[in-house]
Amino acid sequence: MKINAIQTGTVAITTKWREGAGRGRRRLMNTLLDREWTEPLPIYAFAIEHPEGVVVVDTGETARVSEPGYFPRWQPFFRFAVRERVEPEQEIGPQLGRLGISPSDVRLVVMTHLHTDRAGGLHHFPDNEILVSRGELDYAAGLRGRLRGYPNKRWPTWFRPTLVDLPAVPFGPFPASMPLTEAGDVTLVPVAGHSPGQLAVVVEEGDHAVLLAADSSYTQDLLLRGVVDGVGPDEAAERLTHERIRAYAAETPTVYLPAHDPETSARLAERPIAAARKEAVA
Ligand SMILES: [Zn+2]
Repeated sequence: MKINAIQTGTVAITTKWREGAGRGRRRLMNTLLDREWTEPLPIYAFAIEHPEGVVVVDTGETARVSEPGYFPRWQPFFRFAVRERVEPEQEIGPQLGRLGISPSDVRLVVMTHLHTDRAGGLHHFPDNEILVSRGELDYAAGLRGRLRGYPNKRWPTWFRPTLVDLPAVPFGPFPASMPLTEAGDVTLVPVAGHSPGQLAVVVEEGDHAVLLAADSSYTQDLLLRGVVDGVGPDEAAERLTHERIRAYAAETPTVYLPAHDPETSARLAERPIAAARKEAVA
């Protein structure tokens, strides 16, 4: 089994988006009004080369984001708080090709959630089964989804994902889970908070696990400090997700890979264990 981190361009966000400031509505206003920006952060998707077939986790962003009018002008997130940059050859399709992975090698595409930088590469997978949690699709679809910041008019017209309701089968501290492989070594777990139906993927590799954590936090440091981001609609859920991930990492040596952490690629190569730092947060 091999895990590939695929960087589909970069995104800069306001610093108070990455690390939330204040509570409730004020927190969202702080995110939008902040004039300080992060450095360009990587936008990662992943491809797990598994003996049973390739599992793609998220589809990254599209180069079309630089077209005028790609994002609705009235949408405050895109107008005031996010700047993306993606070259055509950075889209996930060409990158999978360079890894020697063809669309027919892909057994499943898992969408951790439906933000633009997860769903922008959907058009590369017209013939693949795509999994989304039912709660996430409900939240992101239609006019209400667009008002919430999910530009769903850009989803391919053929987009009819397989909806996932995670069964109440505990996986360590996670109250629900679903295996994605017969071998039982790749598992979906719920990580609500940043987005209501967000999923993470746990890859068990012998003596340790690799957690493809999506946007559970923007960096490992923010997870260990238990700091919520500036956009998630449910702060309590985000905190609970942080607690569950830390509890999981305390019982299973875990390599923590969020989708925008500048250290994710190096961490995937070197496999340092997040739990080894848990004294630091005690
Ligand atoms: Zn997101």
